[in-house]
Amino acid sequence: MRIAVYPGSFDPVTNGHIDIIKRAAKMVDHLVIGVLHNSSKTPLFSAEERVNMLSEVCKDIPNVEVRYFEGLLVDFVVECNATIVVRGLRAVTDFEYELQWAQSNRIVCPQMDTMFLVTNVQYSYLSSSVVREYASHNGDISAFVPPLVEKRLKEKFS
Ligand code: ADP
Repeated sequence: MRIAVYPGSFDPVTNGHIDIIKRAAKMVDHLVIGVLHNSSKTPLFSAEERVNMLSEVCKDIPNVEVRYFEGLLVDFVVECNATIVVRGLRAVTDFEYELQWAQSNRIVCPQMDTMFLVTNVQYSYLSSSVVREYASHNGDISAFVPPLVEKRLKEKFS
């Protein structure tokens, strides 16, 4: 059984994340989306709201499970019996940060490998922070997020 974890803040989930989820889910037997609950940061959506949105938008992908976690990714990966961590790479700017984490995680947890999926070019500009900024100014975000997330963002900023 090949189990992978796709960790992130997903505040909120975007079409770029969904593209990575669909592609990763085809490569593994089971994909756990790990929603990071970082108690030192105040996200726009609570961990519960982020988990609910992800569960709803991924409900038709049978081998995907959504959970939230706190603390170290390596501990969550072991808890999930996973050996693969999935991350998306959009641009060179993502690379240095990702490389540092992938290498340090492998020292702490040698059975774990990080698998990078290069973003689909149509989503290479897209980030949750861009989406939040547009939404906060009542901008059109229909090309960035699924309809459910668009609705939740409108409710948040209304
Ligand atoms: P984090 O705070 O861990 O960066 P994010 O929710 O911003 O969490 O992103 C989670 C993962 O998804 C990261 O690996 C990030 O590079 C990737 N990702 C974010 N946006 C996109 C996108 N538009 N296309 C592909 N991958 C993306």
